[in-house]
Amino acid sequence: QGKKMAQKINWERVSDRTVGFSGADIENMLNEAAILAARIGKKHIEESDVEEAATKVKLGPAKKKLQSDEDKKITAYHEAGHAVVTHILPKMDPVHKISIVARGMSLGHTLIPPAGDRTHETKTRMLQQITAMLGGRAAEEIVFNEMTSGASNDIELATRLARAMVVDFGMSALGPVNLGPQYDYDELGKAQWYEPAQVSPAMQEKIDAEISKIIDAAYKEAIGIVKSRRKIIDAVVEKLLEKETLDREEFEKIVGKKDNGSK
Ligand code: ZN
Repeated sequence: QGKKMAQKINWERVSDRTVGFSGADIENMLNEAAILAARIGKKHIEESDVEEAATKVKLGPAKKKLQSDEDKKITAYHEAGHAVVTHILPKMDPVHKISIVARGMSLGHTLIPPAGDRTHETKTRMLQQITAMLGGRAAEEIVFNEMTSGASNDIELATRLARAMVVDFGMSALGPVNLGPQYDYDELGKAQWYEPAQVSPAMQEKIDAEISKIIDAAYKEAIGIVKSRRKIIDAVVEKLLEKETLDREEFEKIVGKKDNGSK
């Protein structure tokens, strides 16, 4: 309310892009968009301002970082790896944006906003999420025969999800047994009481083995996708180095439409 918006904003696209945003996130985003538009002397807020503001709210402001061409190229391959692996996996939502502009702690990012609210996550989708998270590292390894520290956050998230599958969701060969810490929640979902996991060292070893199995299989799959789509990844990288940020249309022009999006 009270904000001067341009006429031709595609609100459907904005709403697709902000699934999972809280009311406060959206308010924050529109305030940011107004500031961005005003800063460059625009009379109305345009969709590009809203897009930039949405990214800023979630990932922090864009940072000018001095990067060598070699570093940029590694970042581009890392992000293209995430994006193409995500694009190929049938249960993953469409890629909304890929960027090698540094923000917050990250050198680049690939945005995959959920195509809708989900109340249930399936085992299949979790495995594909882990594979997509490892797509960046897989591309580094295949293209440069090297590993960088840039993948540490991906590895942390992938491991955390694999662990949750084993210890919280009973989705491994160990069966539907809660092997993690015990929590007690009040009706608002706030943890009131917590007890560390009570597992024997022998069981802990099995848990670790199951987590490794999940990660190994996902990484192998990511490597396979990167190897078989190398030409497409090269084309995405070339465009990324030229433009720094690709939106969904630009990305799909190279890789084709996602044929089995969850929408
Ligand atoms: Zn990554």
